[in-house]
Amino acid sequence: MLDFSEERKRFGESCTACGLCVAVCPIIPETDVRDIEPAAIMESVMALYHSGTMSPTAKTRIYSCMSCQTCKNECPEGLDPGLGLSLARAILQEKGEPTPRGLSFLLPETEFNLMKAIEAIQLKPEERPWVTDVVRQKPSSSKTVLFTGCTGLMQPDLVSTALDLIRRVDPSAQALGGIDYCCGDTNLRAGNPAASASHFLRLVEGLESFSPKNVVFLCPTCNSFFDLHAPKTTWSWQFITQFLVDHLEKLGPLKELNATITIHDACHLVRGEKPESESPRTLAKAIPGIKVVEMENCAENALCCGGSAMAAAGKPGTDFRARRLKQAVDTGAQIMAPYCPGCQSVFTPERPNLPIQIESLITLLGRSAGICHEDKLFRFLSYRDGKRVLSEAEECVQASELPKEKLMGFITKYFR
Ligand code: SF4
Ligand code: SF4
Ligand code: SF4
Repeated sequence: MLDFSEERKRFGESCTACGLCVAVCPIIPETDVRDIEPAAIMESVMALYHSGTMSPTAKTRIYSCMSCQTCKNECPEGLDPGLGLSLARAILQEKGEPTPRGLSFLLPETEFNLMKAIEAIQLKPEERPWVTDVVRQKPSSSKTVLFTGCTGLMQPDLVSTALDLIRRVDPSAQALGGIDYCCGDTNLRAGNPAASASHFLRLVEGLESFSPKNVVFLCPTCNSFFDLHAPKTTWSWQFITQFLVDHLEKLGPLKELNATITIHDACHLVRGEKPESESPRTLAKAIPGIKVVEMENCAENALCCGGSAMAAAGKPGTDFRARRLKQAVDTGAQIMAPYCPGCQSVFTPERPNLPIQIESLITLLGRSAGICHEDKLFRFLSYRDGKRVLSEAEECVQASELPKEKLMGFITKYFR
């Protein structure tokens, strides 16, 4: 496993504050440090590393990082600047800086967090299509296990579609999910490397209990995190698009869908530990009637969804998301197709206001294969009426493990 303390030490000793990572960083133009010299921006970060000096410039640089990996191959010292900035968040925490609220709201440790709330209004605990506690539920062995990732919890329809597709290949496949199983990326990005490492180990243990041969990740960040840590396991792992491409012929006849789509790539697939951008395109082209048009930035040059910056820095992130959505609209496609549930959850709240539909590539493939699960979240968002959502989600709210009053307050605000 990667040793985060060593990585922090290495970054502190090796970064020369040359600023090359700032010069290529796509979020900087959206922030209030855009007019500061790149080297000066990184000097402020290194002042935090070396002497604990906090400055507004350093904080903006550190919290606006989207972990998009654009800068990864630019560093002359062979460092991963995104990782260095995540580890700098730990230094900020040690100095007493509170974790930004948007980030805390995503942490699995937070009693009432975004994933749990969005999940709770769509399905009752007993309806979850995934195993949530391997100790209590003692799952039987299965050759293939799908890991939902924390953002998959917000899209149970997507998880069900993915699982149905996988079961056409391996009927015994099961899914592991629930907020207690996380790859640890959120904690790393929130400046808690120790918690990140323990989440990762717990997830490996959880997956082991299925005695799998192959683990399929619904989230490309989880997949890349496994590539980064490279745990010693008796099983292999793959991102879902790669798994589906390997087994296309077993998915059954695919019916025509007739649509022009543009693919929103995920940073952690196209610039991840083992970068590739072909598997999503192979899947799209396998669907009869689907025409793919590319955005101005695509494949290895794709722009991030902006989600991490939205959570940690607010406006720069929402502006960045708008920039990406404009690129999608400009293609003239009918559908923007992300394949990462995290990106999808970042774009979905904007969906009712856009002249382009947003539908996961996995959902499109499922539709073509005759698999349909209702996207309840989109239905609720399109009402733009918290009271109506509250009344339709009443049974789920009552069955939820979350505090009811708090959940009802959240619904009223989130869906207004
Ligand atoms: S990972 Fe992306 S957002 Fe973060 S510093 Fe690098 S280029 Fe900028
Ligand atoms: S992380 Fe690398 S590219 Fe960025 S300032 Fe430091 S040495 Fe330069
Ligand atoms: S990569 Fe992101 S979405 Fe996937 S489990 Fe980890 S934190 Fe959650």
